Amino acid sequence: MKFYNTLTNKVDEFHEIDKGKIGLYTCGPTVYDYAHIGNFRSYIVEDLVKRYFLYRGYNVNHVMNITDIDDKTIRKSNQMGVSLNEVTAIYIKAFLEDVETLNIVKADVYPRATEHINEMLTLIDKLMEKGFAYTKDNSVYFSIAKFPEYGKLANISRENLKTGVSVDSDEYEKDDVTDFVLWKGKKEEEPFWSSEKYGEGRPGWHIECSAMSSKYLGDHFDIHMGGVDNIFPHHENEIAQSQCATGEQFVNYWIHCQHLVVDNQKMSKSLGNFYTLRDILDKGFDPMEIRYLLISSHYRKMLNFSFDGLLQARQALKRINDFIFTLNGLNPAEGETVAITTLLNESEAHFQSDMDDDFNISGALGVFFDFIYQINLKLQELKKQDIKNILDFINRIDSVIGVLKQKEEKMLDAEIEEKIKQRQEARKEKNFKLADAIRDELKSKGILLIDTPDGVRWKYE
Ligand SMILES: [Zn+2]
Repeated sequence: MKFYNTLTNKVDEFHEIDKGKIGLYTCGPTVYDYAHIGNFRSYIVEDLVKRYFLYRGYNVNHVMNITDIDDKTIRKSNQMGVSLNEVTAIYIKAFLEDVETLNIVKADVYPRATEHINEMLTLIDKLMEKGFAYTKDNSVYFSIAKFPEYGKLANISRENLKTGVSVDSDEYEKDDVTDFVLWKGKKEEEPFWSSEKYGEGRPGWHIECSAMSSKYLGDHFDIHMGGVDNIFPHHENEIAQSQCATGEQFVNYWIHCQHLVVDNQKMSKSLGNFYTLRDILDKGFDPMEIRYLLISSHYRKMLNFSFDGLLQARQALKRINDFIFTLNGLNPAEGETVAITTLLNESEAHFQSDMDDDFNISGALGVFFDFIYQINLKLQELKKQDIKNILDFINRIDSVIGVLKQKEEKMLDAEIEEKIKQRQEARKEKNFKLADAIRDELKSKGILLIDTPDGVRWKYE
């Protein structure tokens, strides 16, 4: 497997630190509002990468932090006039619901910043002891001049560093490459923690990811992911903090996902093209359509989000679901066809070689749809074992792309059959009201009834 590593600026062959295991850290949400579809593009790309590693047989230990203390969360809690904890609880719950809605595989742990203040202070101690940090006006800053590799990830040349100048804000631009804050001295109307050495205050944003990643994944781990907007300053600062504290390499591979634009424009509230996941669901789109659109173009390309794109995603999903429906409705003879098995093996190998090549999802999806096309031409030749093999193949592909309806959401097949039986009986007794009610109930669960000469069959819409 190979993929683009922001740290080395090239496509690198992947070698894990511990055979068969991967430590994966992804920067999580700042819980001051509902996550928007731009955020979800990153989370879904991370999910695709993680699912692909799982498909390839790796054991993935995935940590995603939750930023529940920073300038934005504090501002929101003051605006709403409720405590920080109350605000963040609302949006943590919403985020985890959205993760489930989009069929994202849950992280192994979602550590919260406010529950790791001691770990952050210990890390700050180390940086102070080793001379990489200094105190000024009740705050603690990291001295970028002390770390010769500063700027490597974001490709910043050393002459652009404003050494000795310090900035308190967590987010700043590339033309402001200054010493950044590790611990912010207490301010009015801000929550604070007490530190024996640095007094009352709160942590900076960057230190939380360094502290929590090493706690759950060790000082040196395999892969760190995030959006391109995280490269500078956030990830650059994480590297500086972690490597200066431990004296060793922090992360081997950095993967960054490109931005999302809406109708070729930057998403912004003032342009009226700013969407949370919930906004799009309210317009009647299915979560799987959104997921499909968000994974279907390469992670290093800008994704143009449009409602037209969602309708195309709907068509693509319909092709897969119709194909499964057709396969389940065939009445095949026993046996297995060599040509079909060969086509399956070739298609899966091709799918893998595309994904192995910097997660070339468009190529991989192309292989999958071509496979569906080929099989559709040979439906009459299929034998029983062929169909089982094809359905298993689809399940393996879907373990990576995750766009088919989730099983746990579905009614059990037996339950559906039972409902259909009840409806048939109601119709026999001319109780059409009940029959319609049963049909509507199934429809509300996305199950469509189809009358065929062999009786009633059903499928997911
Ligand atoms: Zn982070």
